[in-house]
Amino acid sequence: MGYIKGLKCRECGREYPIEPIYVCEFCFGPLEVAYDYAEIKKKISREVIEKRPLSLWRYRELLPIDGDPQVGLASGFSPLVRANNLAKALGVKELYIKDDTVMHPTLSFKDRVVSVALTKAKEFGFDTVACASTGNLAHSVAALGARSGLQRFVFIPATLEQSKITASVVYSPNLIAVDGNYDDVNRLCSEIANKYKWAFVNINIRPYYAEGSKTLGFEIAEQLGWKAPASMVIPCASGSLLTKIWKSLKEFKQIGILDGLETKIYGAQATGCSPIMAALKSGQDVVRPVKPDTIAKSLAIGNPADGYYAISAIRESGGWGEDVSDPEIIDAIKLLAATEGIFAETAGGVTLAAAKKLIEQGRIDRDRSIVICVTGNGLKTQEALSGHTPPVHYIKPNLASFEEVLKGLRR
Ligand SMILES: *Cc1c(COP(=O)(O)O)cnc(C)c1O
Repeated sequence: MGYIKGLKCRECGREYPIEPIYVCEFCFGPLEVAYDYAEIKKKISREVIEKRPLSLWRYRELLPIDGDPQVGLASGFSPLVRANNLAKALGVKELYIKDDTVMHPTLSFKDRVVSVALTKAKEFGFDTVACASTGNLAHSVAALGARSGLQRFVFIPATLEQSKITASVVYSPNLIAVDGNYDDVNRLCSEIANKYKWAFVNINIRPYYAEGSKTLGFEIAEQLGWKAPASMVIPCASGSLLTKIWKSLKEFKQIGILDGLETKIYGAQATGCSPIMAALKSGQDVVRPVKPDTIAKSLAIGNPADGYYAISAIRESGGWGEDVSDPEIIDAIKLLAATEGIFAETAGGVTLAAAKKLIEQGRIDRDRSIVICVTGNGLKTQEALSGHTPPVHYIKPNLASFEEVLKGLRR
């Protein structure tokens, strides 16, 4: 049995039963899953968790399911890499990359949220799942839904990278490419979700889906020896991931798994789509929608549903945020690959480039532990590097030709 008490409005606190609903009927605030922490505290401890299989489901009491996990059973527990080469390059003491480019069937952290969402959709008895996506969510719903035997409707902006379209359609979902940006797609999907009784993972079952992001925070705390880092840098699209990582650390503290919590949370966006960072920097709570224009398409949400809550989490933790240009994103992708052998997609470039800026500004403490969340694999966005990769040395198949090149390299 699960440990959910019900849904609760984040604004007015009104309570709702566990159903596929997402907005408060009274104040239109978003609904969030509420747990019985007293019971969870009795059930799990560091020792109990440590004995379980290495997947995102090892924290299942803190996830919104009633029965056993049904989807993504091997997903998660991605490496927390001690990044000494990169630390040296950035001039910091203790740096880690949470590497979500691996350990997921579709190579991004979206497999976390979709594993939870599809398990919940099955519990609710849905036979069709759907999503509005900037790319990675499409991959995940298409792939994990295929294994689960669910009908799949996947909606994307038609302008998505060709490789991201291929990596969705290969799983044979019903792939719908909409002539518009993500915010247009999302608006259309809200209408469709009202009319057709499907499980839209990021619309009508969003309260459950979003909880899956907490597993990233749980894992980091466990991998640091049951300690939260001093600073954590997190990319923002809708702002949900950042909000939920903050929630995960607070939950671990509440049930006694963490002794203390002093983590500062830092947000990262691309300058071409930075509505959350713009509001944060100008001291406002209201996020003003923008029209995205950046190579970081997986983060290109101009009207972020959880922007307000992401800003609150950042402020509550005492952190900050930055936005970075497309050239800075590309440089950061190359820096991470050349120093640590990790190939991140554009969102990873955004996060590292923002971390670098925040370190240079003195906002992130150089002398204490820093975790940078790299959320997706670079093989998914190879187009972004076209024309920007380091040189390839082309030679004739003979020794002389090779040594010609070698001479040049040694010079
Ligand atoms: C979706 C996504 C994010 C951020 O998602 P939120 O909407 O802020 O939860 C970060 N990185 C990658 C690679 C993504 O696909």
